[in-house]
Amino acid sequence: MKFYSTNNTSSRVSFKEAVFNSMPQDKGLYMPVTIPRLDDKFINNLDSYTLPEIASHVAQNLLGDDIPADDLKAIIKDAINFYAPIVKLEEDVYVLELFHGPSLAFKDFGARFMSRIMSYFLEAGEKQLDVLVATSGDTGGAVALGFLGVPNTRVTILYPKGKVSDIQELQLTTNGQNIRALEIDGTFDDCQALVKQAFTDPELNAKYRLTSANSINIARLIPQTFYYFNAYAQALKQGKSQVVFSVPSGNFGNIGAGLLAWKMGLPVGQFIAATNANDTVPQFLKHGVYEPKPSVATLSNAMDVGNPSNWVRIADLFKDDAGQLNKLITGYSFNDDETLAAINAVYDHYKYVVCPHTAIAWQALKDYQQDIHIDDTVGIFLSTAHPCKFPDVFPQKIADHIEVPAQVKDLQAKDKQSVELGIDFEGFKDYLLKNA
Ligand SMILES: *Cc1c(COP(=O)(O)O)cnc(C)c1O
Repeated sequence: MKFYSTNNTSSRVSFKEAVFNSMPQDKGLYMPVTIPRLDDKFINNLDSYTLPEIASHVAQNLLGDDIPADDLKAIIKDAINFYAPIVKLEEDVYVLELFHGPSLAFKDFGARFMSRIMSYFLEAGEKQLDVLVATSGDTGGAVALGFLGVPNTRVTILYPKGKVSDIQELQLTTNGQNIRALEIDGTFDDCQALVKQAFTDPELNAKYRLTSANSINIARLIPQTFYYFNAYAQALKQGKSQVVFSVPSGNFGNIGAGLLAWKMGLPVGQFIAATNANDTVPQFLKHGVYEPKPSVATLSNAMDVGNPSNWVRIADLFKDDAGQLNKLITGYSFNDDETLAAINAVYDHYKYVVCPHTAIAWQALKDYQQDIHIDDTVGIFLSTAHPCKFPDVFPQKIADHIEVPAQVKDLQAKDKQSVELGIDFEGFKDYLLKNA
């Protein structure tokens, strides 16, 4: 499969180039030149396949020219080594749990697949790959744990001091091996600015082979299609063939992958884009005007994005039929009070605890089902992170019911290792040069 830039649809690069560049020079995003339609027999019989089988089939259709089938299978087996169940909460309301990976967030799908693809393409004797990543919490953990122990790679994570939860910080700072954490005395935006400047610094680029691991990398998007197919497979097993998905959205990579799955033939009736107060996309879907705004801070901070970077991909998917986009996606947004109310309602209704991002997707689904009731259609909302990653959000009676997974207990026994730095670029650069 070749890839083009959304800013120049006649450009062509290989999958390997697209993965290592992350972003084209022209600042577009990479998209596959053709989107293969999976055969009906596969789609209609999805319920007879396992997640790794589904993932391999989907990946092979997209990447079969670039990576031999057996290698792709091995990569998937190693990367997607956890499950993604749908859990029934009531008639026609299911939750797709995407938090069973090592960092307890759906970003594990993308980060683990991407790290292994990068390692696969690194040829013997090639210069070590230096991944720089700024995080507001979830990305760093997924990338750190995704690259941990992957040969010929090293990861440097920058996170804002005091602004990530305790569990997130442990996931960033207790890895050792090829992972190191820098605690920046500033905000996430400061971390991001340092990383961006490093990529344009000639001295650093001469010394290191720098790459970013952010959510726009095409190798993070592709594996996120797998769990949409797999969720549909599980719905089929329950005798349900009509589904809608509600997706808590920030940078719109997750829902973008769902739309890619739809383009490949997955029969989804509706996608619900659920956001917090950062409602650029719901506003666009309502009024037809796309107006990016500075982000505002909310309880669901992994979705605090005012200008979602993956939106150009979604626009590109529907460039020949913008009307279709408006039919297929509907938007809902909720403020922090509504988010808290949703967390409480989910707990009261089902004795189930959702993280603040997931709560927004649940509320959007309920509102949608109220607005538009379609018989025999199940709503599946995506749970993007385990609630234990956001302990400060919950009222005590709910916090007491959060089950802490075993891997978190292991983390709590480990020592934090990080280097504190300020927000000046010279200090950061000096650190990188001195710690080869
Ligand atoms: C990253 C993240 C999101 C947003 O996903 P996008 O792909 O950026 O839309 C939602 N919830 C959680 C918990 C996240 O970490």
